[in-house]
Amino acid sequence: MSIFDLGRAADAAATCSSAGCGAEAAWTIAWRNPRIHAETRVKEWAACDAHRDHLRDWLASRDFPVAVAPFGTRVERVG
Ligand SMILES: [Zn+2]
Repeated sequence: MSIFDLGRAADAAATCSSAGCGAEAAWTIAWRNPRIHAETRVKEWAACDAHRDHLRDWLASRDFPVAVAPFGTRVERVG
Protein backbone atom coordinates (compact mmCIF):
# COMPACT_ATOMS: atom_id res chain seq x y z
CA MET A 1 0.00 0.00 0.00
CA SER A 2 1.24 3.45 -0.81
CA ILE A 3 1.15 5.95 2.01
CA PHE A 4 -0.99 8.08 -0.29
CA ASP A 5 -3.78 5.49 -0.06
CA LEU A 6 -4.06 6.15 3.65
CA GLY A 7 -5.57 9.59 3.26
CA ARG A 8 -8.74 8.38 1.60
CA ALA A 9 -10.32 6.98 4.73
CA ALA A 10 -8.94 9.57 7.10
CA ASP A 11 -11.78 12.07 6.88
CA ALA A 12 -14.28 10.04 8.87
CA ALA A 13 -11.88 7.75 10.69
CA ALA A 14 -11.12 8.14 14.35
CA THR A 15 -8.16 5.79 14.14
CA CYS A 16 -4.56 6.52 13.26
CA SER A 17 -3.73 6.74 9.53
CA SER A 18 -0.33 5.10 9.93
CA ALA A 19 -0.13 1.73 8.17
CA GLY A 20 -1.09 -1.14 10.44
CA CYS A 21 -1.95 1.08 13.38
CA GLY A 22 -5.47 0.94 14.76
CA ALA A 23 -4.88 3.21 17.72
CA GLU A 24 -7.32 5.97 18.52
CA ALA A 25 -6.54 9.23 16.79
CA ALA A 26 -5.39 12.06 19.01
CA TRP A 27 -4.10 14.41 16.33
CA THR A 28 -4.99 15.75 12.93
CA ILE A 29 -2.14 16.10 10.48
CA ALA A 30 -3.18 18.69 7.91
CA TRP A 31 -1.10 18.96 4.76
CA ARG A 32 -1.09 19.50 1.04
CA ASN A 33 1.19 18.75 -1.87
CA PRO A 34 1.95 22.13 -3.46
CA ARG A 35 2.69 20.45 -6.78
CA ILE A 36 -0.84 19.08 -7.15
CA HIS A 37 -3.02 20.88 -4.61
CA ALA A 38 -4.23 24.47 -4.71
CA GLU A 39 -3.35 26.69 -1.74
CA THR A 40 -6.86 26.37 -0.35
CA ARG A 41 -6.82 22.56 -0.40
CA VAL A 42 -6.19 20.71 2.87
CA LYS A 43 -5.68 16.97 3.20
CA GLU A 44 -6.08 15.45 6.64
CA TRP A 45 -4.61 12.39 8.27
CA ALA A 46 -5.42 11.18 11.73
CA ALA A 47 -2.59 10.22 14.05
CA CYS A 48 -2.16 8.62 17.44
CA ASP A 49 0.40 9.96 19.89
CA ALA A 50 3.01 7.42 18.75
CA HIS A 51 2.77 8.24 15.04
CA ARG A 52 2.14 11.97 15.09
CA ASP A 53 5.79 12.95 14.65
CA HIS A 54 6.46 10.15 12.16
CA LEU A 55 3.64 11.21 9.85
CA ARG A 56 4.42 14.91 10.19
CA ASP A 57 8.12 14.35 9.50
CA TRP A 58 7.35 12.15 6.48
CA LEU A 59 5.34 14.97 4.92
CA ALA A 60 7.78 17.69 5.96
CA SER A 61 10.68 15.76 4.46
CA ARG A 62 8.96 16.10 1.09
CA ASP A 63 8.61 19.85 1.55
CA PHE A 64 4.86 19.62 1.94
CA PRO A 65 3.28 22.32 4.11
CA VAL A 66 2.07 20.51 7.22
CA ALA A 67 0.28 21.49 10.42
CA VAL A 68 -0.58 19.43 13.49
CA ALA A 69 -3.69 20.09 15.55
CA PRO A 70 -5.67 18.19 18.18
CA PHE A 71 -7.96 15.63 16.53
CA GLY A 72 -11.26 17.15 15.54
CA THR A 73 -9.81 20.58 14.91
CA ARG A 74 -10.78 22.04 11.56
CA VAL A 75 -7.69 23.22 9.73
CA GLU A 76 -8.71 25.70 7.04
CA ARG A 77 -5.35 26.13 5.39
CA VAL A 78 -1.75 24.99 5.55
CA GLY A 79 1.36 26.71 4.27
ZN1 LIG B 1 -0.64 5.20 15.17
